[in-house]
Amino acid sequence: MTQPRLTVLAGPTAVGKGTVSTYIRDNYPEVWLSVSATTRPPRPGEVHGLHYFFVSTDEFDALVRDGELLEWAVVHGRNRYGTLRRTVQEAMDEGRTVLLEIDLQGARQVKESMPEANFVFLAPPTWDEMVRRLVGRGTETADEQRQRLETAKLELAAEPEFDHTVVNDSVEHAADELVSLMGLRPLQR
Ligand code: 5GP
Repeated sequence: MTQPRLTVLAGPTAVGKGTVSTYIRDNYPEVWLSVSATTRPPRPGEVHGLHYFFVSTDEFDALVRDGELLEWAVVHGRNRYGTLRRTVQEAMDEGRTVLLEIDLQGARQVKESMPEANFVFLAPPTWDEMVRRLVGRGTETADEQRQRLETAKLELAAEPEFDHTVVNDSVEHAADELVSLMGLRPLQR
């Protein structure tokens, strides 16, 4: 048996981390998926305590000040997101298989404090597919698209910092590979 330990899933913007972690939440109840605190307002259908703990900027300040966050970051230059140290510690103490789905800045912070964790990079199948996902919506200006692609290049360059890479060619496949890396058995289909 592989010793259960904390796994961090990170990767470039728009690679589909959220889709993979939603799939894991729905199909692998044995995985304990961390619920982050965020200052971002909820989107329609998002539930406080399930998708995020939606907090005010003052509440987030207090979490930072009181050392309650294992890591935190400003994502997309706007809202703050952070992992609650205590809930993660409790899940680990219970022997649960813990997954954090966070951005690259957060993953680097966890590496500082928990170098023994399992770091998994979620990669796009190809650069072209990534460009398609990033610019595909057609809602950004040409300048914004250029900016996003520049960011994506920098983010892709972080791959060697990780222990493993999972290619997101399909959500089922990526989720199965991720749970295997977490020492669990993938679903039989
Ligand atoms: P969204 O607002 O679309 O739910 O998430 C935006 C980004 O925030 C995603 O890249 C996600 O990985 C990242 N994120 C979510 N929770 C955390 C967290 O606790 N810490 C960090 N550093 N990033 C997070």
